[in-house]
Amino acid sequence: MPGLLHNHIAVVTGAGSGIGRGIALGFAREGANVAALDINGAAAANTAADATAAGGRAQAFTLDVTDRQACRDVAGKVARDVGQVSILVNNAGINRRNAFTADADAVLKDWQDIMAINLNGVFNVTHAFLSALRAAKGRIVNIASIQSFMHVRTPNSPAYTTSKHGVLGFTRALAAELGKDGVRVNAIGPGFIETPLNERVRATNPELVKVFLDHTPLGRTGKPDDIVGPAIFLASDLSAYVTGSIVMADGGYRAI
Ligand code: NAP
Repeated sequence: MPGLLHNHIAVVTGAGSGIGRGIALGFAREGANVAALDINGAAAANTAADATAAGGRAQAFTLDVTDRQACRDVAGKVARDVGQVSILVNNAGINRRNAFTADADAVLKDWQDIMAINLNGVFNVTHAFLSALRAAKGRIVNIASIQSFMHVRTPNSPAYTTSKHGVLGFTRALAAELGKDGVRVNAIGPGFIETPLNERVRATNPELVKVFLDHTPLGRTGKPDDIVGPAIFLASDLSAYVTGSIVMADGGYRAI
């Protein structure tokens, strides 16, 4: 039986690690031809090789999402080497956990870097693939956060919360504008997912993880695979009448 993403070409940013890697592998399992993009080209290549070894189709491309021209260039390369993109997952992101009142230079650098990747990067990549996505009546899935709605008072960065509020706003604005073209735009709000993004916090601050879990009805942290199902849902025809939405995959964190 063909997979749920059979006949689709899917771009996933930040596909070399964590959630993006999980989504790229999951999409390939569902029959999509996957373009795995990451600033770390070797990590992207590793994801593409694993997808291929499992019987799927995938190719790797090196991309720093902060580089607008590089985003345009990679869109051209993907069109040439893979084909017309019909699914885009804006996943690449970083976090730094300095408070706003921390060292001024560090806070300024955090703000610039986080905005450049988490928010401007989403703009850059979406803009670069826009004409392909409109032509394909495609789907965009943005990786947002619990922090698209609130600030989580673990040691955390105001820039991260601001960027993720922005990702949700961008999702809604594009859904409104692109609906008439048949392009659906949605977001996923992951909870605390075990990836390299929070490896240091998990290793050094178990109490913080406990505070988080005490607020999570399912009582466990998530794994990248917990985000794969929602991503397949939003990228496939299963969600044909869903746009401008956010699917929370947070163990219930936002419910209480
Ligand atoms: P991750 O394991 O660190 O993966 C992020 C990937 O993005 C890495 O491969 C990273 O490469 C890459 N990347 C970083 N900067 C980039 C750039 N400028 N251009 C292209 N790629 C870049 O983190 P993750 O937890 O899977 O995070 C994925 C997304 O989920 C992020 O948007 C994050 O905000 C979001 N999210 C995560 C959680 C969570 O608990 N983990 C919760 C809510 C939302 P390098 O490793 O080389 O930097």
